[in-house]
Amino acid sequence: MSALPIISPPLARVREKDRDAEWVTTLAAAPEEIKNTVGAIVAAHRADMADEFYAAMLGDPSARRFLDNETVHTRLHASLQRWMDTLFGGTHDQAKVMAALQRQVGEVHARAEIPVQLVSRGMRLLKTRLFDHLVRSSLNRADLVVAVEYISSLMDLAFAEMSSAYVRSHEEGARTDEMFRMITAGQNMALERQRQLAALTDWENSVLRAFVTRADMLNILPLRASAFGLWMQHKGPLLFEEAAELASIAEHIDRLDSTLLPLVAHELEQKTDLTELGLPAVVRELLSTLEESKYLVNVLFDRLTDLEAGRDVLTQLYNRRFLQTIMRRAMKLALRHENSYAVLMLDVDHFKRVNDLHGHDMGDRVLQHVAALMLSHARASDFFFRYGGEEFLAVLNEVNQEQALMVAEKIRRRIEAADIGLGDGKTLRVTISIGVAMHDGHPDFQRLIVRADEALYQAKQGGRNQVVLSGLSQPLALADA
Ligand code: GH3
Ligand code: MG
Ligand code: MG
Repeated sequence: MSALPIISPPLARVREKDRDAEWVTTLAAAPEEIKNTVGAIVAAHRADMADEFYAAMLGDPSARRFLDNETVHTRLHASLQRWMDTLFGGTHDQAKVMAALQRQVGEVHARAEIPVQLVSRGMRLLKTRLFDHLVRSSLNRADLVVAVEYISSLMDLAFAEMSSAYVRSHEEGARTDEMFRMITAGQNMALERQRQLAALTDWENSVLRAFVTRADMLNILPLRASAFGLWMQHKGPLLFEEAAELASIAEHIDRLDSTLLPLVAHELEQKTDLTELGLPAVVRELLSTLEESKYLVNVLFDRLTDLEAGRDVLTQLYNRRFLQTIMRRAMKLALRHENSYAVLMLDVDHFKRVNDLHGHDMGDRVLQHVAALMLSHARASDFFFRYGGEEFLAVLNEVNQEQALMVAEKIRRRIEAADIGLGDGKTLRVTISIGVAMHDGHPDFQRLIVRADEALYQAKQGGRNQVVLSGLSQPLALADA
C-alpha cells in the first residue's frame, strides 16, 4: 500500500536545484558570439515586441481584465523589456539570479491570478517573434540552429521556473484561504480535535471487536479509508501545513494498514484456542501505534490553538497570517464590482522613547491602547492587522479616496487626543503617522502595501503625526478638516 500523498515541499526544492544546474549548463553551452547576436536582436526589437505582445494579449478575453488598466500597461511594457534584457542580456554567470527572477515573476502572476495558459501563450509569441528576427539576421545556417536552441532552452527554463513558483504560491494561498474560511465559518478546532480522536478510537474499537469475536480481519476498512484517514489526507495538510507530525501520522497509518493489520489477521488464523491467545505482541504493537498517533494528533492541534484565531496576542488585532487572504479578497471584490479599497500603514511616532522613558511594559500598554482606538473606528468591512512591533496595517474595503483619508485622519486625531493611563494616575500621549494607498486597478496587491509604506515614510520625513496619500508629494493639510 502506498503512503499518503502529503504535499512535499522538499521535493519542490530538489527540482529547483536541478533547474539551477540546468541554467548553468544552458548558459554555458551557447558560444559568446551567438549570445551577443541574440542580445543585440533583443535590444533592437524589445520595444516593438512588447507592443506586439500587449496587442495580442488584449485580444484574449481572459487577459483583458488585467490589461485594460493604464498602470498595468505602463508597468508591463517596461518590465517585459527588462525581463527580456536580463534573460538575453549577457549576465551569463548569474544563473541563480536569473532563476530567482523567474520565480519572482511567477509569484507576481500568482498574486494577480494571471492564468498559466496566458503566460504560456505570451511566451510562445515572444519566441516566434525572436525566431523571425533571427532568420532575418546575418547568421549562417549552423549558427542559426544554435541560436534557436539557445533561445528555446532559456525560455522553456524560464517558463518552468515561473510555473513552479506560481503553483507553489497558489497552493500556499489556497491553504491559508481555506484555514481562514474554516475559522470565519465558526468551525471550532477544539471540537475538530475531539472528532478526530474519536474517529481514531472508533477504528481501534472495530479492530479489537473483530479480534475478540474472531471476525474476518480483512473486512475491516483500512485506516487510510476511514473517517480519520480521509480527514488527515485532505483537511490535515490545510490546517497543519507541512508539520513533521503529519508525515509521522501518515507513516503510522501506512504501517497499520499494510503490516500490522495483516499480521493480526494471520495470528488469528494460527490460533484455534481463544484462551491461548492472550494479547499477542502484534496486537499490543498495533495499540501502541494507535496511541502514538493520538499523541501526534494532540501535538498538532495544540500548536494550532495559538494561530487558530489568527490574532495577535497583545493587541487582539489580526496577525499577518491572513493578510494575503484578506488582500486577495479585497482586490478581487474591487475588480469585480469596480469599486475601490485602501491600505493604511500606521506607525507610532518615536515609540522607542516611550519604552526608554516608561519601560517596555508601559510600551505594551500603549500599543494595546492604540490598537483599541483603531478598532473602535473599524466598520464591519475593515480589517486591522498588527504588521510589526509598533506598526499596523488596515485594509478598508469599499472606500473612495476621500473616505479613506477621512478615516485615517480621524484615527490620527483620536490617538493624538487620547490620554493613555499609566496606572499610577499619570497619563501619556502619543501620535501616529499614516500612509494611505488607494487601489488603482493593478491586480498585484503587494504593490499597494509598498505604496502605503512609501507614503508612511514620507509622513515621517514630513515631521510625523500626519496622513500622507501615496502618489502625492506633499502631506495633506487636513488637520482641521
Ligand atoms: P519613528 O517615529 O521613526 O517610527 O520612531 P520609533 O522610535 O517609533 O521607531 P523605531 O522603529 O526606531 O523604534 C520602534 C521601537 O518599538 C523599537 C522597539 O523596541 C519597540 N517595539 C517594537 N515592538 C514592541 C513591543 O511589542 N512592545 C514594546 N513595548 N515595544 C516594542
Ligand atoms: Mg515608530
Ligand atoms: Mg516602526
